[in-house]
Amino acid sequence: MITTYPSTQLEILRKKTEEESTVTPNGTRLESFFQGMQNGQKAFVVKTSWTALNRSDKDFVQQDENCIKFCFPKFTVRRSLKKGENGKTTIRVYANDPNKSLRITICPEHQSFSVEHLFETKIIQCAKSERLCEHLTRID
Ligand SMILES: [Zn+2]
Repeated sequence: MITTYPSTQLEILRKKTEEESTVTPNGTRLESFFQGMQNGQKAFVVKTSWTALNRSDKDFVQQDENCIKFCFPKFTVRRSLKKGENGKTTIRVYANDPNKSLRITICPEHQSFSVEHLFETKIIQCAKSERLCEHLTRID
């Protein structure tokens, strides 16, 4: 489950393990790790990370000065760290059929988004919020 907040905070919750990755508004990445059961409750430890992280060969994070990219088997979540992009979040969904792949771009502050279908090099935009804010109309 992916949640973006108007504050530009981003949270990714892995439903299976309940482990969470968080990017705070200032771009700090927090990673929670399951530690075992304590008094009948799942206990997690939260670590701050500035580097790449592999939870498994299918669930890993890459980070550089411009972005944090969370990689999962069928999708990636990229959170921009660039000034002026306002924590812009891009979700790419990969299908076996490349014609069904999607790119969803979200401005967390303005809750503005656009959905694009990627037909190899042709991009068809099928859904967008009424008005795109300036953070989404910039060209990368
Ligand atoms: Zn915006």
